[in-house]
Amino acid sequence: MKVLVVEDEKKIASFVRKGLEEQGFAVESCARGDDAYTMARSQAFDVIVLDIMLPGRDGLSILRSLREQKNTVPVILLTARAEPNERIEGLNLGADDYLTKPFYIQELIARIHAVTRRASGEPSSVLRAGRLTMNVMTRQVTVGERHIELTPREFNLLEYLMRSPGRVLTRTQILERVWGYAFDPQTNLVDVNIQRLRKKLDPDSKADFIETIRSVGYRFLKSE
Ligand code: CA
Repeated sequence: MKVLVVEDEKKIASFVRKGLEEQGFAVESCARGDDAYTMARSQAFDVIVLDIMLPGRDGLSILRSLREQKNTVPVILLTARAEPNERIEGLNLGADDYLTKPFYIQELIARIHAVTRRASGEPSSVLRAGRLTMNVMTRQVTVGERHIELTPREFNLLEYLMRSPGRVLTRTQILERVWGYAFDPQTNLVDVNIQRLRKKLDPDSKADFIETIRSVGYRFLKSE
């Protein structure tokens, strides 16, 4: 599997390269946006890991141009912090996923596998788990035929859970990812929002999509 890593922060670039090479990926890396665009157009990659803030040309503009040319290479954006507008813009432009720095290399590898799997199957903007469907493009969520109204925060929370099925997510991870906090403000923000989400998804408590892991966090269940 051939990966293009576009990142101008040397430390991150070399950490990503090393981590991916250890897993057997062939890695090309690039620190400038304009060079990255040329490489993405002239070579075939299985996935592009794309930083947003870059010298030469920014990541979102590269993504926009690639998609305008009907280039469907899976793209995972790297964002400097939980910046919801950047993420939403990136997803609207056709990014397949995003990661907020700092991240674990295992997380990047899992996402690369997920987006390349999806690239060969259904559109990446649709997440499914049993009767639950989320379209990250139109921001519609349904359970069976029932349309679920979510606040933007609940939507982001559910998206994060659905993108990590079967994995235990700690409250701290959820806070960082969904609220952008790099610390635990000692509130029950996560718990309260999870409860609300559960009620909306499953008012009769018949099939709980979200499992509580006592004193740790939560796990999204693949219900099939
Ligand atoms: Ca950067």
